[in-house]
Amino acid sequence: MDVSYILDPLNDAQREAVAAPPGPVLVLAGAGSGKTRVLTHRVSWLVEAHGVSPLSVLAVTFTNKAAQEMRGRIEGMLGYSLRGMWMGTFHGVAHRLLRAHHRDAGLEEGFQILDSADQHRIVRRVLRDMGLDEGYWAPKQVQWYLNAHKEDGRRAQHLGEPSDTQQRQLLGIYKNYEDLCRRFSLVDFAELLLRAFELLQHNEPLREQYQRKLQHVLVDEFQDTNAIQYELIKLLGQKFRQVFIVGDDDQSIYGWRGARVENILQFEKDFAGAQVFRLEQNYRSTANILNAANAVIDINRGRLGKKLWTEGGDGESVKLYNAYNEFDEARFVVARIQSWVDRGNPRGDTAILYRSNAQSRVFEEILLDTGIPYRVYGGLRFFERAEIKDALAYLRLAARRRDDPSFERIVNVPARGIGNKTLEQVREHARINRLSLWDAARTLIESRELSSRAVSALSGFLELIDDIDTRIDKLPLAEQVDTAIRIGGLPDHYKKEKGEKAEARLENLEELVTAARQFGPRDEEEDLEPLTAFLTHAALEAGEGQAEAWEDCVQLMSLHSAKGLEFPMVFLTGMEEGLFPHQRSLQEPGRLEEERRLCYVGMTRAMQQLYLSHAEIRRWHGRENYPSPSRFLGEVPGEFLEEVRGSGFSLGVNRRRRAVPEAGAGGGLRLGDHVRHASFGSGTVLNLEGRGEHARVQVKFDDVGSKWLVLGYANLDRV
Ligand code: ATP
Ligand code: MG
Repeated sequence: MDVSYILDPLNDAQREAVAAPPGPVLVLAGAGSGKTRVLTHRVSWLVEAHGVSPLSVLAVTFTNKAAQEMRGRIEGMLGYSLRGMWMGTFHGVAHRLLRAHHRDAGLEEGFQILDSADQHRIVRRVLRDMGLDEGYWAPKQVQWYLNAHKEDGRRAQHLGEPSDTQQRQLLGIYKNYEDLCRRFSLVDFAELLLRAFELLQHNEPLREQYQRKLQHVLVDEFQDTNAIQYELIKLLGQKFRQVFIVGDDDQSIYGWRGARVENILQFEKDFAGAQVFRLEQNYRSTANILNAANAVIDINRGRLGKKLWTEGGDGESVKLYNAYNEFDEARFVVARIQSWVDRGNPRGDTAILYRSNAQSRVFEEILLDTGIPYRVYGGLRFFERAEIKDALAYLRLAARRRDDPSFERIVNVPARGIGNKTLEQVREHARINRLSLWDAARTLIESRELSSRAVSALSGFLELIDDIDTRIDKLPLAEQVDTAIRIGGLPDHYKKEKGEKAEARLENLEELVTAARQFGPRDEEEDLEPLTAFLTHAALEAGEGQAEAWEDCVQLMSLHSAKGLEFPMVFLTGMEEGLFPHQRSLQEPGRLEEERRLCYVGMTRAMQQLYLSHAEIRRWHGRENYPSPSRFLGEVPGEFLEEVRGSGFSLGVNRRRRAVPEAGAGGGLRLGDHVRHASFGSGTVLNLEGRGEHARVQVKFDDVGSKWLVLGYANLDRV
């Protein structure tokens, strides 16, 4: 078999790694050096040169988006479809395993996945049942505690008997949480991994079956695997030792969530004799961008150490923009994107990256104003929007009455007169008799313990769900979704909210029907009922946002979600102390290094143009802040950096809501000008908006705080 088409597009080091004899392999290399490329070529090479069946390959990566990309690349190379191949995220793979062997794993067939909001609700219920005060036992922190233990492979029973009272209480919560999840077959994200691991660990025949079945294990972004993910890899790979991992210690950015970069060193011990390859040529970025990024990451200590070089030209320098405030920053970024697009380039070439998801809002506002399509990954997650979750809850409950989180969610949405008191009775009854909320409601209705009003409201709800269940039977998926939404009464409910918000919610509900219509199950979901497959897809997808792949649009995402991706033009925004590096990292050297790696990840996403920006004033957590520029900016050597100025208010016409000032608007006022007003006293110009008679100015007055004034009447003097 001629495999030159697999090996030719590689450099020597890459080729050696791809064609390494079967056995454990570690590819340790910097950003943009072709690690993902090597991994995809390795799969093709195994298939073509060694006659390995694609069905005996397990390839794992970090996000669904990356997994799809990987599949596309391999299929492109081989020229045929890889249906049924085990390729996906750790969670996806674990889920597939559990669905296939739910009984062995001790789960009901229709077990339900809890996303983080569902988990939150369950934790609150456990706290309530235990009579613990939510003010003291913050549910979010309890979630963190539960997940951290599970990610390290520890169940409540492994934790011994703590001497400290608080730890003892937490352990009690853990036990009750486990108990509740077991009773109702609920599986949170961390549980997916732990349960899959335990399944293989304790069930020897099954373990051997899968060790043989998935003989080749490949892992991308290995530096961010947590303890249980690594154990899973070890369990599967230990028999045949054909484990191929690629990673970069400098891009380990999930330490705060239990990722263990030490797994890289551990791998060499656990798989003795592993061949190690290093790739040093970067193919992604211009020399200026690469050198700037190298200089920043070089400051970290405790690196495995590597130097990247490129044959490419210097390219443009890295640009630094010093914005007045977050709006000025967003306008600058959007103006640069606009001129990039005006020169005939795709919008999808550009990415706006930020440390915190909340930063997306201002960019979104300006992009909307300017009429430039964009997509937010990770922030405004489609499947996490309230109205979408409501609609899905109707479907879930109709499919499985024991689904308590869904019951809780919609029992009184839209309002149907089921009061808190009634609900408390239902919960209490469920707790004492160890029933699902649905069964508890039914027995209560029969027991005549409720007021007649409560009985009629509750039975109305139960009948409604039964009705949905009967009606959607045998309908095509999209109509099932549509029917549940309509009969559930969600559109009318949301219409009451009025205004843009209501409109957006209705659009989202419609979009959900569209999503159902376009839905094609992934391999691991193929043997499920379409509705089950769709609901599973929604639960797993909630972390990533919906893809409108056909539309060319600006990409907005957090630095964490940008891992592994590349874009010709990248904006790294909000580079301010306290924001990036994040406040929480400032006092902790270890976390500060992780922030610096995140900065390195961000910078190395850029192929041709990289912009770094910070603002002098930023509204953050509801307050005005005056942050210092990020220390990371100071770490980029001056020779690679060029400071740029904004082009004034040159965004031009607004197509959505309001006009954006053109140069010269605002009576010659500029952001940051000091002004005096007859009644309010002196202040500073924060914002300028609108044109002509609609022009408005926002001034932060020293004494009376910030105010919006209509320019024509404001009588402001520049001082
Ligand atoms: P990251 O650390 O960011 O995940 P990576 O090491 O996985 O990066 P890839 O995404 O595989 O790097 O490659 C970076 C870019 O360089 C891609 O566009 C890839 O196609 C290109 N590339 C890699 N190797 C070569 C090569 N030998 N010839 C040409 N282009 C290459
Ligand atoms: Mg990669």
